[in-house]
Amino acid sequence: SRPNSRDRALRERAAAVIPGGMYGHQSVGLLPDDYPQFFARAEGAHLWDVDGNRYLDFMCAYGPNLFGYANPEIDAAYVRQLGLGDTLTGPTELMVRLAEEMVALVTHADWAIFCKNGTDATSMALSTARQHTRRKTIIRAKGAYHGAATWCVNRPAGTVPSDQAHQIFCDYNDVASLEAAAALAGDDLAAIFAAPFKHDAFIDQADPDLAYARKAREICDRTGALLIVDEVRAGLRLSRDLSWSRIGVQPDLSTWGKCLANGHPISMMLGADKAKKAASQIYVTGSFWFQAAPMAAALETLRLVRDTDYLERLQTLGDRLADGLRERASAAGFGFRVSGPVQMPLFLFEDDPDLRKGFCWSSEMLNRGVYVHPWHNMFMCAAMTEGDIDAALNAAEAAFAVLKQQGPSLEPVAKMSFLTASHR
Ligand code: PMP
Repeated sequence: SRPNSRDRALRERAAAVIPGGMYGHQSVGLLPDDYPQFFARAEGAHLWDVDGNRYLDFMCAYGPNLFGYANPEIDAAYVRQLGLGDTLTGPTELMVRLAEEMVALVTHADWAIFCKNGTDATSMALSTARQHTRRKTIIRAKGAYHGAATWCVNRPAGTVPSDQAHQIFCDYNDVASLEAAAALAGDDLAAIFAAPFKHDAFIDQADPDLAYARKAREICDRTGALLIVDEVRAGLRLSRDLSWSRIGVQPDLSTWGKCLANGHPISMMLGADKAKKAASQIYVTGSFWFQAAPMAAALETLRLVRDTDYLERLQTLGDRLADGLRERASAAGFGFRVSGPVQMPLFLFEDDPDLRKGFCWSSEMLNRGVYVHPWHNMFMCAAMTEGDIDAALNAAEAAFAVLKQQGPSLEPVAKMSFLTASHR
C-alpha cells in the first residue's frame, strides 16, 4: 500500500495543537481511513500528498480549482498584483473593473459586493433581503448547505435556538412544500434561498425542476420577498452566467465564491437594482475583503471563462467519465448511480446503506492514484485531459473488480452509522 508515515506523523502533531486535529469540510474524519489528510503540492489536475503520492483530483479543492492548480496565467496576474499591492488602506481600480465585468457576465446582476468566503456572501444576502423587505422569515430547502455561520450550520454545538429563528424549511423541487412554506411565512417572508440544483451530501443530486424554480420566482414577485440563488458551489462550472439562466429564471440576489479566482480568496454577492439600496445600508466588511491580488486573479479567471472553451470541455470530459463509469459498473454487475451535472458528479452504489461499497471502491481508486469522494459531489477542472479520464476509467474497472471480490466480506462502516433512511 501507499506510504503514509508523514501524514500519520502530522496528524499526531495536529491533534496536539489543532482542535480535533482538523475541522470542517476538508477533514477526512468521514472518509475511508486511508485517505490522506495533508498535501504538499498541486499542479493542473493533480495533487500530491505529504508522502509523495500523486492523485488525479476529482475534488478540485471542493470547487475552487476550475482551470487547474497553479494555472500559469491566473497565478501570474495574482503575483503581478502582489508586487504592486494587495491588502491596502483602500481598494484598487480592480474592484470596479471586477464589478463591471460580473455585471456584464451575469444577466440578473446590476451590482456586486465582494467578500472572502461563500458564507460571507450568503449571510450578506440574508441581511440584504431582511433590510429590503423589513421582514424576518426565510425559506430554504432541508439539507441544502449555505455555509458555516450560526444561522445556517446544521450542527447545534455552540449555537442557540434563536440563531436559526425565522426560518422555514421546504423540500427542494417540491412545489407543494414550497407553497406550504410560503403560506406559513404569511406576510413576513423576506427571502427564498435556492441552490441552483440539488447538491446535498449522501444522496443523489437532482437538476432543478422548472416548476419549482418558477414557483419560487412567483412567490417572491407576489410577496415582495427576494429570490436568492446560492451559486457558491456551482458558479461558472455549469454556465457563463448564473446557472438558472439555462432554465430562464432570474433571482434578485446571487452568491458566489469557490472558483471565482481559481482558488484565490474572493467571493461575492450580485444583485438586481431593486435590492441595491438595502445592500448599501447593511454593514458588511472585513480586513481582507478588498485585497487586490485575488481580484486580479478573478479578472484573469473571467477572461478564461469568456475566451476559452473550458465549459464545453468540462461537459465533454464529464460525459466521458459518467458514461465510462456506468458502462464499467454495469459490466461488473454493480448498480452504480452517477447523479447531477456531469461537471459536478456524485457517485453512489445501489444497496449501500452504510457506504461500505462506496468506501471500498473509493479506496481502491485512491490506491490507483485517483482521488474520488464516496458521498460528496465532485468537481471537474479544465486542466483534465481525455487521457486523465481514461486513466480514471481504467482505475475504476480494476476497483470494481476488487469490490466484486471483496464485496461479500466487507465490514460495516461504523463511522457512517449515522446515515438514516432519508439518506438512502
Ligand atoms: N453555499 C454553498 C452552496 C456551498 O457549497 C458552500 C461551501 N461548500 C458555501 C455556501 C459556503 O462557502 P464557504 O465555505 O466558502 O464559506
